[in-house]
Amino acid sequence: MKKLALHWKIIIGMILGVVYGLIANKLGLVDFTNAWIKPWGVIFVNLLKLIAVPLVFASLIKGVASLSDIARLSRIGGKTIIFYLFSTVLAVTIGLFLVNSVQPGKTFSEEKRIELKEAYASKAGEKISAANNVKEEGPLQFLVDIVPSNIIESAGSNKNMLQVIFFAILFGIAMVILPKEKTLYVKGFFDGVNDIILVIVDLIMLMAPYGVFALLGGLIVDFGGSSDLFLALGMYSLTVVIGLLLMILLIYPIILKFFTKVKYFDFFRAISPAQMLAFSTSSSAATLPVTMERCEEHLGVSEEVSSFVLPLGATINMDGTSLYQAVAAVFISQAFGYDLSLSAQLTIVLTATLASIGAAAVPGAGMVMLVIVLSAIGIDPEGIALIFAVDRILDMLRTVVNVTGDATVATVVASSEDQLNLISENN
Ligand code: ASP
Repeated sequence: MKKLALHWKIIIGMILGVVYGLIANKLGLVDFTNAWIKPWGVIFVNLLKLIAVPLVFASLIKGVASLSDIARLSRIGGKTIIFYLFSTVLAVTIGLFLVNSVQPGKTFSEEKRIELKEAYASKAGEKISAANNVKEEGPLQFLVDIVPSNIIESAGSNKNMLQVIFFAILFGIAMVILPKEKTLYVKGFFDGVNDIILVIVDLIMLMAPYGVFALLGGLIVDFGGSSDLFLALGMYSLTVVIGLLLMILLIYPIILKFFTKVKYFDFFRAISPAQMLAFSTSSSAATLPVTMERCEEHLGVSEEVSSFVLPLGATINMDGTSLYQAVAAVFISQAFGYDLSLSAQLTIVLTATLASIGAAAVPGAGMVMLVIVLSAIGIDPEGIALIFAVDRILDMLRTVVNVTGDATVATVVASSEDQLNLISENN
């Protein structure tokens, strides 16, 4: 019998996880799930995070060091940033268009608003104080944050990915400047490390079907009986979901068709395991090793391009998050009874773009940055309490779009640099 492809195994794991969660809820197996099922999900996510820094480090050094000239690096960098900005602004615009057409906030009853505000006041408070810390920083703080003062410290936290990227690029550039014979061994070392890590990714992925089972099973048990709140927010959730689907089913295919020779179906088949992990972990950072492996080995994006474009994308390119922020900001304003002017909507385009760039690639980060978008248009940030109940599920979905956007841009940049060796495969 033909071996089941990885993405099927992951899908089966996801479905069984949901089914298990529902049954566990019915049978009251909350403690059992917390004690015996959830830890496997945590272990799986930890394994993914474990290799993120070494993978980015080794593959970026390998990628940059193999460039024949530095000019190429800045060309790839320029294209990457332009495509990332373009896709993000497009996503925000789609979000704004949808939320203004559907107007989900107008159908929101006064009682529901008070009920949700009371239920989620303290959680909203936590997010607001996290956002206030971000706001107090000066305009150049983001640049200061990119340049580390101690690389060991930077490598000590996955949150500092941009610092690791900075050091790896600097290291790679220095290797290019030196005569080849001086860097021969260092290059060989990083090439080897890189290959080893890619095998580790393969090994970790053997656990993926069980990992997603535990993650989703645990999550459903956590959700417990919140379905009533979920219904009240149905229109809002639907608007976000339609926007996210438009990105995946329309915008990315058009971009791929326009700029590459990749068929969308092949693209989708290649990166689907990464999408499923994005859904199950809600974290682009945790998914990064798999996104890189799938793009390189199943799509044919050269390592030179993927090692630069994808880690950068995981941190700064979040199309799904920016779309969600636009919808959520307008939804909350509508629920509060405000009509936003054109200039307020343009402020959303700007702040949601910046806020998605600034959001960390971890679960729930988009909501922290939403506070900044709301403040920019003069809406009480405590309004995020209204959408808390459905944020986790929307987080899972927007992370899928974030990861798909990164892979799309990596494919486009690779294709434009003649660095895409299309791989035809059946798995
Ligand atoms: N969870 C998202 C990500 O990691 C960020 C967010 O929107 O909260 O891509």
